[in-house]
Amino acid sequence: MNQFVIPPPAVVSVPVAHGGAFPVRRVFCVGRNYAEHAREMGSDPDREPPFFFMKPADALVVNGADMPYPPQSNSLHYEMELVVALGEGGSDIEPANALRHVWGYAAGLDMTRRDLQNQAKKEGKPWDMGKGFDASAPIGLLAAATKIGHPRAGRIELKVNGTVRQSSDLSQMIWNIPEMIAYLSRLVRLSAGDLIFTGTPEGVAAVRHGDLLEGMVEGIGTVRTLID
Ligand code: MN
Repeated sequence: MNQFVIPPPAVVSVPVAHGGAFPVRRVFCVGRNYAEHAREMGSDPDREPPFFFMKPADALVVNGADMPYPPQSNSLHYEMELVVALGEGGSDIEPANALRHVWGYAAGLDMTRRDLQNQAKKEGKPWDMGKGFDASAPIGLLAAATKIGHPRAGRIELKVNGTVRQSSDLSQMIWNIPEMIAYLSRLVRLSAGDLIFTGTPEGVAAVRHGDLLEGMVEGIGTVRTLID
């Protein structure tokens, strides 16, 4: 029998609204999935297929914990997003079957070191250090699809210090949830425990030490963190 030569890492999990915890395997994120946000980032929303990047599972921040302001950045941006949690994996999933793979949904924040991301874009380098840094993914309680169903529309909103900074509707997504799952499952074999951050609407901007972020997705839940 093989013995671990260092202690194995703890399983990362997201608390579930009605009790229990969802163990997380991987965190995928979709880029530019709302037309107005794609435009504000200087892209043409009509011409690009969905693209994906990742964050480490242990970048999740749960239970409303504070998020430490990350090192090596002067431009920490919020991106308010709907998060999909997969209860079943697979590859080459058909859009018509995709929702059967979804266990539930949560409200989350794809926090971004925009200065590092923009530098990487300019130099044709990977986004990882702009997106996948420590504590870069605050997330609220997970709601089971068996309780809330599968959202096609609903308000998505973020307040910073009580003022609304992002406000849109899930119906404004360029690629809907089944399409995203299907597309991603043709690139990698998806697994139970995978999360997908589904992109942010327009209105992204920088935050500072002491700012309070409070997000909500109608019918799904909330996410809250203080930038420490
Ligand atoms: Mn994002």
